[in-house]
Amino acid sequence: MNRDGTRKSIWQEEIKRFPSDGDLNQLFDVVIVGGGITGISTAVRLQLSGKKCVILEASNIGFGTTGGTSAHLNDFFDTTYAQAIKDFGLQNAKLLKYVGIEAKNIIKNNIHEFNIDCDFENKTAYLFALDEKQEKQLNDIVEGASQVGHQMIFTNDIPFPIPFKRAAVIPDQGQFHPIKYIKGLAEAFIDKGGIIEEDCLCESHDEQEDFVTLKTSKGTVRAKKVVYATHIPPGVNILHFTVAPYRSYVIAFSLKGNNYPKDLGYDLTDPYHYYRIQNINGEDLLIAGGEDHKTGHADDTGECFSKLENYVRQYFDVDTTMYSLVKPVLRTC
Ligand SMILES: Cc1cc2nc3c(=O)[nH]c(=O)nc-3n(C[C@H](O)[C@H](O)[C@H](O)COP(=O)(O)OP(=O)(O)OC[C@H]3O[C@@H](n4cnc5c(N)ncnc54)[C@H](O)[C@@H]3O)c2cc1C
Repeated sequence: MNRDGTRKSIWQEEIKRFPSDGDLNQLFDVVIVGGGITGISTAVRLQLSGKKCVILEASNIGFGTTGGTSAHLNDFFDTTYAQAIKDFGLQNAKLLKYVGIEAKNIIKNNIHEFNIDCDFENKTAYLFALDEKQEKQLNDIVEGASQVGHQMIFTNDIPFPIPFKRAAVIPDQGQFHPIKYIKGLAEAFIDKGGIIEEDCLCESHDEQEDFVTLKTSKGTVRAKKVVYATHIPPGVNILHFTVAPYRSYVIAFSLKGNNYPKDLGYDLTDPYHYYRIQNINGEDLLIAGGEDHKTGHADDTGECFSKLENYVRQYFDVDTTMYSLVKPVLRTC
């Protein structure tokens, strides 16, 4: 099994196994636990800065949420700028905007620096309100974005066959193939002398004065510093009280008549639906997601897929359901 779950991810065919041939007995500068986009991005930068690093991954690179993402590259978030201003003030909401832009730039720069072929494309995104309640939400979202200087412009057209009341266009967003991207980063990391150890579950850590000892399923590993890139770090900590795991569902469809919307799309239902396309083996596919819920709060997760599929079939001329995936994701509670 290359990923968790029984369903096949659209990205799965690109997952690569890394040989286990590094020396785990040395004292590392940094151990990075978790081989998703967070862990690998961190590891590459540390290794390039001259640190001796190892990534310990419980299963395989891309096994976690990164292998189940829909991989839109946005500089706007589920938490709207209006909400961020309300909760954290205008200056901090502006910082959030810069962080979003910076995150996209880091990915673009990595693609360029390490020459990674990962289907990256600049895209325009559309937020659309389906009823009056959503229209009010959209107005608030656009107003919040304008306060932090983020470009969202009302538009009369959307490239999706979905009836809407109001819509906004957001230029300069992106999309990529997440597994091709992290595979390229992982190869660059190894090229620079980094070590990847897969099938290596990190069970606990013990902090001594000068170093940390990690107990893993492959023995002990020692390092001066540890980065947990595993969502919430293990043990009981404050994050457990502020975030909760959610599930989101994604299905890839082939459409009749080649009528694929070329852009990124999001409605404002609660939970919202999200759309993009991806070319896999020469064939365009529509990736649609939604039906999010708190993990454990749906009795029949198969039904969530059915609901998503039925919803998409209302608007798109679906030919075949090709891939489906479900992954947990953390949200503030
Ligand atoms: C359906 C869905 C759609 C999404 N769409 C988008 C999107 O369009 N755009 C966007 O920006 N974000 C999106 N996200 C969120 C995004 O995918 C995640 O934020 C991101 O992939 C998290 O990456 P990560 O490296 O932090 O975690 P992961 O990819 O989950 O990596 C963590 C890794 O740690 C490993 N691990 C865990 N515990 C241990 C341990 N004890 N020892 C060793 N290894 C361990 C796991 O096996 C895993 O491989 C989406 C999420 C979902 C679920």
